[in-house]
Amino acid sequence: MSINIGKAQIGGSEFVVIAGPCSVESEDQFRTTAVGVKKSGAALLRGGIWKMRTSPTAFQGLGESSFEFIKKIKAETGMSLVSEVTDIRQVEEISGFVDAYQVGARNMHNYSLLKELGQQPKPVLLKRNFSAYIDEWLKAADYITNGGNQNVILCERGIRTFETATRNTLDLNAVVYAKKHTNFPVIVDPSHAVGIAELVPHLCYASAAAGADGLIVEVHPNPRVALSDGQQALTLEVFDQMMIQLEKVLFAFDKKLQKHPNPLNKVS
Ligand code: PEP
Ligand code: MN
Repeated sequence: MSINIGKAQIGGSEFVVIAGPCSVESEDQFRTTAVGVKKSGAALLRGGIWKMRTSPTAFQGLGESSFEFIKKIKAETGMSLVSEVTDIRQVEEISGFVDAYQVGARNMHNYSLLKELGQQPKPVLLKRNFSAYIDEWLKAADYITNGGNQNVILCERGIRTFETATRNTLDLNAVVYAKKHTNFPVIVDPSHAVGIAELVPHLCYASAAAGADGLIVEVHPNPRVALSDGQQALTLEVFDQMMIQLEKVLFAFDKKLQKHPNPLNKVS
């Protein structure tokens, strides 16, 4: 099964890269990232408007104050946007400019949110909770499809293991398992899986080789000053290099990278 987000198609013969900052932090930061990742071949943009932070005192996202400039940057770049909803009320609130809803790892078990997303037509990127069995992840997807929305994209983002050297452990088993046993497109979030920027490109290549349908990668123009997840964000330069290598890996598996169809900065 393939799913369209804007002009991108996930789950078909081509590999799709979604890229952008963990959090939308300012108009400048989001524009620079959007323009940069598009230039390097990302098909879709990511960016958190509301953040699920472990600490309540950590940056919680810009929320509503970012809506207008996000719309502007989408129009300027022609990029479609994937963004997380952390609450049922936000589904309607951002429906005018978000092209696919992300359910974060912490909300994979939030069944009322999943049911709500099942009753609207936009694609849902369903992250696996870091402690969820594959079976629980697939049953969470059923909560969405049972409402009528079949447009679910599964996202493996690392699980908790005994290992502490990396943030989580990327479970490529889950990727190949979900590809074999479900019809949903399956993508990988290497950023939260490993949590260390210099290791992220390697997991991107491994995910492509394992048969994932795409990636969602955190990129920041200046990770050192990022308000969330700076330690795992790729700079625009490293993202560009990663994309060049990624195309070579995909070529070895007879796959192509799906690039955004419109040239940079043309409004579409
Ligand atoms: C994110 O994508 O920034 C995020 C919070 O991811 P996860 O829900 O996988 O932790
Ligand atoms: Mn993040």
